[in-house]
Amino acid sequence: MTQSPVSASPERVAELTERLATVRARIADACAAAGRSPDSVELVAVTKTVPAQDVAALIDLGLSAFGENRIQEATAKVAQVAQLRPAARVRWHVIGGVQRNKVKALVHWAERVESVDSVRLADALDTAVRRAMDTGQRRDPLSVLIQYSVDGDPNRGGIPRADLLRLAEHVSGCAGLRLDGLMAVAPLVGTPTEEAFADIESAAAELRSEHPSATVLSAGMSGDLDVAIRHGSTVVRVGTALVGERRLTSR
Ligand SMILES: *Cc1c(COP(=O)(O)O)cnc(C)c1O
Repeated sequence: MTQSPVSASPERVAELTERLATVRARIADACAAAGRSPDSVELVAVTKTVPAQDVAALIDLGLSAFGENRIQEATAKVAQVAQLRPAARVRWHVIGGVQRNKVKALVHWAERVESVDSVRLADALDTAVRRAMDTGQRRDPLSVLIQYSVDGDPNRGGIPRADLLRLAEHVSGCAGLRLDGLMAVAPLVGTPTEEAFADIESAAAELRSEHPSATVLSAGMSGDLDVAIRHGSTVVRVGTALVGERRLTSR
């Protein structure tokens, strides 16, 4: 069995440095084109399938928010990163579908779940968070984004527009959860990108009209972050453009 390395190789660090500069420049350009400050968009590095050593390197390069979509993989990685960079204040976001039997594990490390799309999931998270807070294993309520589905395809996660405000109302009544905004992924087929992000922008506005503090809009990934920023995104979730096609062997 090979020992896992303590740090990323110098070549890998150089690659991540260059990729990060490119992504930051794209964000800055998109913000400039939209007349927005580059500070108005947060970069969440999607580190699913990359090793903890790469996360540590990205921390060294100034990133602090990381997105993961597999709870088991993330739970192990969070612990490894805490060992590698004990002084870093790291914020972990869950960005994928969550099975309710994984909720107990994630409330120990997640600052935010971006993918809440049902009352059942909201309730499971709320219960687990409140229990963890009662027993001193967690300090703050869980930040929650409601995942919105542009095309209503139930297989890809997200809630259709007709149910958005009902779920928001429910989440805002959960003591363990804090409703911070909306998340969406543009559909791969069907709706053209421009139209999809215009729709996402209007869903975010609808949410804000009822819940003024739900100001976060997490939209845009490697391929479409520029369009997303033009349509009001405040968080971009970037994987491939930042870390390449690297894969952990467990995948
Ligand atoms: C993987 C993933 C991303 C990152 O996608 P890239 O195209 O690799 O940047 C963003 N959001 C979600 C929900 C993801 O699952």
